[in-house]
Amino acid sequence: MKREFIKIKDMRRENSWINLKARVFQLWNSESESISQIGLLGDETGTIKFITWKKSNHPLLEEDKCYEFKNLVTGSWQGKLQVNLNKNTIITPIDENIEVSFLTKLHGKIIRIYHGSGLIRRCPFCKRALINEVCPEHGNVEGIYDLRVKALLKDNDIQDILLNRDVTEHLIGIDLEKAKELGQKSVLHKIEKSLLNKFFNVEGRRVGRYILVENICDRDE
Ligand SMILES: [Zn+2]
Repeated sequence: MKREFIKIKDMRRENSWINLKARVFQLWNSESESISQIGLLGDETGTIKFITWKKSNHPLLEEDKCYEFKNLVTGSWQGKLQVNLNKNTIITPIDENIEVSFLTKLHGKIIRIYHGSGLIRRCPFCKRALINEVCPEHGNVEGIYDLRVKALLKDNDIQDILLNRDVTEHLIGIDLEKAKELGQKSVLHKIEKSLLNKFFNVEGRRVGRYILVENICDRDE
């Protein structure tokens, strides 16, 4: 079977065989006996962790060099996707200049605004969002107001996205002070009106299961 080359941003599932062109962005030290190399590969759509297993007998990759990888396998470690170079992987150095981007790019429709969006209060000590006025670690505290959106974006797949205060203020056109005046109910209404069932181009960094949004703009359908 002939496999297409894919971009890092399009990798979503573990246990798939893929082909990739990427730059060796960083090499890390490994303590493990079974690993010969570990680090980050990058392309113009993002970065992903890679592992070369010692038993695969591959020559060492050089930092900052670009390679074509055929027959990589995706896997995951602690919920984060990675790629594994095993004995079936074919590695070819290439003479291409691949620019590495830290940002993940998505385009799609926001199909859901999660509970916990809008005006929230955070613990002054650990910054966690309070649940029923209580911090899970520090108990009853005087919360600090913040504004955020947690939403579900649908492109080819679905992805949870997180909008911080700056991005949220910009999108709904009111700042935190104004939001406090209006109250959570109207803030949430504004968020839904501005975001729900609309199309956006989104750029952000992957943090756990979320894309932490840095840039978001309307997109014509
Ligand atoms: Zn706390």
